[in-house]
Amino acid sequence: MHTMGVHESLEVLKKVQEVDGEIHKIKRELTEIPEAIHELQLEFEAEKARMNELETKLKQTQLRQKQKEGELAEKEALIRKYDSQLTQVKTNAEYSALQKEIGQIKADNSMLEDAIITILDEVEKIYKDAQEEKERLARIEKESQVRQAELTKRAEELKVSLAGLTTKRGEIISQVPPEIRDLYDKIIEKKEGLALVPIAGDDCGACRMEIRPQLLNEIRLKENLVICEHCNRILYSN
Ligand SMILES: [Zn+2]
Repeated sequence: MHTMGVHESLEVLKKVQEVDGEIHKIKRELTEIPEAIHELQLEFEAEKARMNELETKLKQTQLRQKQKEGELAEKEALIRKYDSQLTQVKTNAEYSALQKEIGQIKADNSMLEDAIITILDEVEKIYKDAQEEKERLARIEKESQVRQAELTKRAEELKVSLAGLTTKRGEIISQVPPEIRDLYDKIIEKKEGLALVPIAGDDCGACRMEIRPQLLNEIRLKENLVICEHCNRILYSN
């Protein structure tokens, strides 16, 4: 039975390497997809937190508004009560004391009214911000869902391609002798999808380190497999 030599094996391994390059790219993209989906989820969560924060702020400000309005109503009731008492007082001293009291409350109320107007402006601004945030959140949620669906679909497609390429690779590599196959497989696993590289001038095409003249000769002879002494990949010359 004919055993495939190094020269022929290298030709086969070139084809395997081509497929392995694609497989490596697919695997990398497949690991990136869950990360991308996670990023989208985080972005949405952050936007939602901002929305919740605005809603809380709105409630708190509206509560302050109600408190101030309540205070104002109480003081206005007090003024009405004192006003009616004015008609019943017996002495001038009592009358002017009550009037002074009413004047003081009215001055307080004027400040309360100003404070309420300021709070109302705040409420209006926060409400507007919250509305905008709500729209942004809805938009982000929709975009995020579309993007996540695209990514999930892409992952499914990649898995199908990967299965096909893995089968194809198995068929091609089965042509080379087991010891060469094992060596190649060991390297491809450790070397980021690149086990077989052409020399580039006198350098390794992968790590770019200079190759010793004796090894260069061996590479050109194609009688033995030559491994780069720096990056441990299989070298060949075209
Ligand atoms: Zn190298």
